[in-house]
Amino acid sequence: MNTHYTSEEIEKYRQAGKILAEVREQTAKRITVGASILETAVFSENLIRDLGGQPAFPCNLSLNEDAAHYTPGADDTAVFGEDMVKLDIGVHVDGYIADSALTVDLSDHPELVDASKAALESAIGAIHAGIDTREIGAAIEEAIGEFGYRPISNLTGHGLAQYLAHVPPSIPNIHTRTGTVLYEGQVVAIEPFATEGEGKVRDATRWEIYHITTENPQLPRIPRARALLKAMMEYKTLPFARRWFSGEKIDLTFRQLTKAGLIKPYPVLREVTGALVSQAEHTVIVTENGCEVTTV
Ligand code: MN
Ligand code: MN
Repeated sequence: MNTHYTSEEIEKYRQAGKILAEVREQTAKRITVGASILETAVFSENLIRDLGGQPAFPCNLSLNEDAAHYTPGADDTAVFGEDMVKLDIGVHVDGYIADSALTVDLSDHPELVDASKAALESAIGAIHAGIDTREIGAAIEEAIGEFGYRPISNLTGHGLAQYLAHVPPSIPNIHTRTGTVLYEGQVVAIEPFATEGEGKVRDATRWEIYHITTENPQLPRIPRARALLKAMMEYKTLPFARRWFSGEKIDLTFRQLTKAGLIKPYPVLREVTGALVSQAEHTVIVTENGCEVTTV
């Protein structure tokens, strides 16, 4: 199905992208050895609101072998060490989303960072209406291979739609056998990950990010669970952080809603061999002859 956005909608995608670019640069500067991870995430999310947007998902600050989906908890006292930090930010304006990430490397592995950056540039250079997503995956795999690293094969870029952070098509990070043809006006996020490991992630046993599983849930009878779920429904189906909510017996209530299938966690995604991972991501609007990057 082709989505045809109005010029007002396109303008909101651009606005979200502009806010994101500013927040990404200001947040990246704060990622230094000894800085609080929690304060960095909260700074980023607050700056989005100050600039007129809303977080489309919690500020992700995934370290080292964690590729994605880590955000600090409410009582997190950890600070950055000599880590490879993936800063992944989402901003929306009226539901129109910008999604972008970069790697701040405090671990002294500049080539690994360059590999995902070069792959993103290569993919952006290749994209245009009519391209098959297989060609994008091949360009990413080749660019990362030139640095002697592997892309993460089971993480992909994705389409974006109003209040939906992950919709088809998926944009592979490797050469795939089947693909989808992109069309003019489509909004997609491209996000190569590079690693010195095997190039796969699996779920870790920790999570701080959740989403509601249906927009029209049967509300629980327990008043505390009912109130919490209603508060979560403000985010529609967009991801939210556990630390965004507080109150009596909050952990218990989160467990009850999870057990009832009303919310679902996004576990941290960890490289299977425990190797370092870098990431680069931009959101683009596909045009006839190329694309417009919204997140610069
Ligand atoms: Mn992202
Ligand atoms: Mn993304």
